[in-house]
Amino acid sequence: MLGLMQDWPLLCHKIIEHAAKYHGTREVVTRSVEGPIHRTNYAQIHARALKVSQSLERDGIKLGDRVATIAWNTWRHLEVWYGIMGIGAICHTVNPRLFPEQIAWIVNHAQDRIVITDLTFVPVLEKIASQLPSVERYVVLTDKAHMPQTTLKNAVVYEDWIAASDGKFEWKTFDENTAAAMCYTSGTTGDPKGVLYSHRSNVLHALMANSKDALGTSAADTMLPVVPLFHANSWGIAFSAPSMGTKLVMPGPKLDGASVYELLSTEKVTHTAGVPTVWLMLLQYMAANNVKLPDLQMVICGGSAMPRSMIKAFLDMGSQVRHAWGMTEMSPLGTLATLKPPFTERTGEERLDILQTQGYPPFGVEMKITDDAGKELPWDGKTFGRLKVSGPAIAKAYFHVDSNILDEEGYFDTGDVSTMDEHGYMRITDRSKDVIKSGGEWISSIDLENLAVGHPAVAEAAVIGVHHPKWDERPLLIVQLKQGESATREDILKFMDGKIAKWWMPDDVAFVDGIPHTATGKILKTALRDQFKDYTFPTAAA
Ligand code: AMP
Repeated sequence: MLGLMQDWPLLCHKIIEHAAKYHGTREVVTRSVEGPIHRTNYAQIHARALKVSQSLERDGIKLGDRVATIAWNTWRHLEVWYGIMGIGAICHTVNPRLFPEQIAWIVNHAQDRIVITDLTFVPVLEKIASQLPSVERYVVLTDKAHMPQTTLKNAVVYEDWIAASDGKFEWKTFDENTAAAMCYTSGTTGDPKGVLYSHRSNVLHALMANSKDALGTSAADTMLPVVPLFHANSWGIAFSAPSMGTKLVMPGPKLDGASVYELLSTEKVTHTAGVPTVWLMLLQYMAANNVKLPDLQMVICGGSAMPRSMIKAFLDMGSQVRHAWGMTEMSPLGTLATLKPPFTERTGEERLDILQTQGYPPFGVEMKITDDAGKELPWDGKTFGRLKVSGPAIAKAYFHVDSNILDEEGYFDTGDVSTMDEHGYMRITDRSKDVIKSGGEWISSIDLENLAVGHPAVAEAAVIGVHHPKWDERPLLIVQLKQGESATREDILKFMDGKIAKWWMPDDVAFVDGIPHTATGKILKTALRDQFKDYTFPTAAA
């Protein structure tokens, strides 16, 4: 027997309709690509998103067609986002930090028909446009006054393009399993892989993200997503914030400490989300200028492990911290570290111990850890295993890749290695390919990195496994010092001594001017392994 409830498909555009109707005057504030601060609201975004849909239809875009955006977090990007999805086309967010050849590869693989882009990326697109035969038109997110001369095919000024539509348009209703958006993983090896979100998965993910123990913003809060729309739906915030009527502050192209601080402060932002590198820049700016953020209640940090010293710095500032883990394939939220009983009363270092884990999943994500043969491992907080996940907002296949990515129980292997404890708290110890295998035992590079950045002179640290004649691999700690600070190999090793098992201690420390990052802000270990491929440990050589 079926239930007798209304057939109300979970469609992404219903979110912005709801925001326009019930939170229409709630602001969306942007640092525009052109420079000035721009203010609009959900009612206007909804109205202009309808014009985007009309304009796309005029250009022949239909259900299932891919439309790419290569753009910063701005109000126009949000309009385009909902406008594309509202007609059942697929909003393909492309990461502009990728190499031009990778962008070309991705656009070709997705067969994008229109590319909607910011002024910033016009020059790079002009260079690769001849390699993008599927693209019929480029829409530049600006007005006539700022439009540059361009060789891009059928280029049009966004404001003119939507002005040619009257906005008298109704969004479509279709099956909630219809594809809505697409994002390629930034994989450091092999070709990028396309994750194809559905309307249903995005809406369910937004509801999940809204829970108090997840992103947890309300209609009275203000959220600044530093994490870009092209990094896994800005962790769902482009859906969750409008669904709650949360005021949005969009940072546009400027993500440096001073610019982010200015917006957080002037717009009285209560919640913000971003990767550790962004928070490092913010904290350095705040310390150097001796400034505070009294309105900031919650800093959400994910994408890479959040160092303990960073958690402490935000707590000392009076803000709460939420360490989150997830991935593009998971829409992306997987776990968040909130304190649940019996840990709510913990203080000091013991509180930090919990906040530093990657946390436990919200309803809608199931997890297990297994050995290489797929056998489940115990949740004892110590045993490392392959982390596997399942849920309604988790990928079951990649776009146009014909291979099974789920195990027999329907779980997706995240490629991360983690422990689980008896309370369900997960702790990432490594990417499976970064784990250091020393004498048959595993050493967590992330634990060592977290510890090393706790040294006051260290700006960033990376640990890689280097061949060792006796132990197979041993850890090499690579350190970038803070500007104007100094520390020796011995200083850093002494600082780490006693805080980890003796056999985990790095065999050497190498100092570098800069640590390379991927397009989503993660340490690029492949580049470091390459840089240190001829390195031998002093002890091993002796
Ligand atoms: P992406 O798909 O670009 O978001 O990358 C996902 C990967 O980033 C995960 O599989 C992890 O390896 C890593 N990651 C994300 N969040 C964290 C975190 N809080 N701690 C450690 N690694 C993380």
